[in-house]
Amino acid sequence: MNHDRSHALFSRAQQLLPGGVNSPVRAFKSVGGEPFFVQRADGPYLFDVDGNRYIDYVGSWGPMIVGHNHPAVREAVQEAIGNGLSYGAPCEAEVEMAETITRLVPSCEMVRMVNSGTEATLSAIRLARGATGRQRIVKFEGCYHGHGDSFLVKAGSGMLTLGVPTSPGVPAGLSELTATLSYNDFEGATKLFGEIGGEIAAVIIEPVVGNANCIPPRAGYLQHLRELCTKHGALLIFDEVMTGFRVALGGAQAHYGITPDLTTFGKIIGGGMPVGAYGGRELMQQIAPAGPIYQAGTLSGNPVAMAAGLAMLQLIQEPGFHARLATATAQLCEGFEAAAREAGVPLTTNHVGAMFGLFFTDQKVETYAQATACDTTAFNRFFHAMLERGVFLAPSAYEAGFLSSAHDGAVIDATLEAARAAFRSLAD
Ligand code: PLP
Repeated sequence: MNHDRSHALFSRAQQLLPGGVNSPVRAFKSVGGEPFFVQRADGPYLFDVDGNRYIDYVGSWGPMIVGHNHPAVREAVQEAIGNGLSYGAPCEAEVEMAETITRLVPSCEMVRMVNSGTEATLSAIRLARGATGRQRIVKFEGCYHGHGDSFLVKAGSGMLTLGVPTSPGVPAGLSELTATLSYNDFEGATKLFGEIGGEIAAVIIEPVVGNANCIPPRAGYLQHLRELCTKHGALLIFDEVMTGFRVALGGAQAHYGITPDLTTFGKIIGGGMPVGAYGGRELMQQIAPAGPIYQAGTLSGNPVAMAAGLAMLQLIQEPGFHARLATATAQLCEGFEAAAREAGVPLTTNHVGAMFGLFFTDQKVETYAQATACDTTAFNRFFHAMLERGVFLAPSAYEAGFLSSAHDGAVIDATLEAARAAFRSLAD
């Protein structure tokens, strides 16, 4: 594959953008090498500036569940831009978006639109703190909730309850308010609530972890957290920025039958435009201007973004949409496992709905510790072997993969053919 134009662009970009990119994982740092630069995207494919085509399992990190450049989404955007790009005053599409989200996700009776997943989680945490009058939050190792200060925190050595910053610039005084638990550890959660349950404003969790590869909850785990929160008067926040409208039409909360107090959204609800949202029941009445907890946004509820998101949410309501995607994802994962077995490469997979993870290990992966114990060197080699064969996986061993409805049988077959050759090349 020729990458001359991508290489030249990356050289220019590195002079102008930190690391040559506008979001870190795009820089290929963990897999090595250089990113390709995209010229256009269509259906299951990305096309780079050197004319190479890739089957795309990143899907813009989740939003593109109907494939890239879907005509219905594109036409909705084209129609919307004919009426102007931003109003700074209410418009009908915002009401339609709120009606759609609250109908599909019954734990949300009211939502506030924002511009990214990060804004959604930051705002949900502020609401939780404001509403409970408590300051501490609890999150889980391996979960990502955007780049807000309260989330760039890991467990402090020895003191489980006092978090320490994972990034310079995060004040220790703030990180101390974030406790970090091991995902899928029942006991750890019970113990923490036993110690400081009365101080916890909220527990925030990715109900299926998609930012430490793909790790589903153990049976009963989300219910356990629900019960602890209810007992101790803490709020349960499901961060469904990734899982929302993907693992099921009603998100992970519908898939697992758990009702959180607040939910955060992003990705799919924007159809590829920059959008986030958070929602819940009567708690939402505490957000300004209905209530005293402040949160605002110049471009929030943007009419073009609402049009893109509404068109996408319309498409995914087609009966059987999520069941078909889940079946295709299961087939893809079975195919990956079979191809690895043939080549004698240890591999296990996890998948929920249309998200999946590949683990270079022969063990079942249910925890962050197990995910990080996998062979990342093997993943990095596999990533490049697939890329050379025209398949783009997330450029990190710690990211989930995403299918879209544009990934039909022929695309999956082509992916698995590439995988068979890539696994063989690993075994050589
Ligand atoms: N929450 C989850 C679960 C995410 O996966 C992400 C981004 O990948 C975010 C929050 C942050 O969203 P954004 O990148 O739109 O700020």
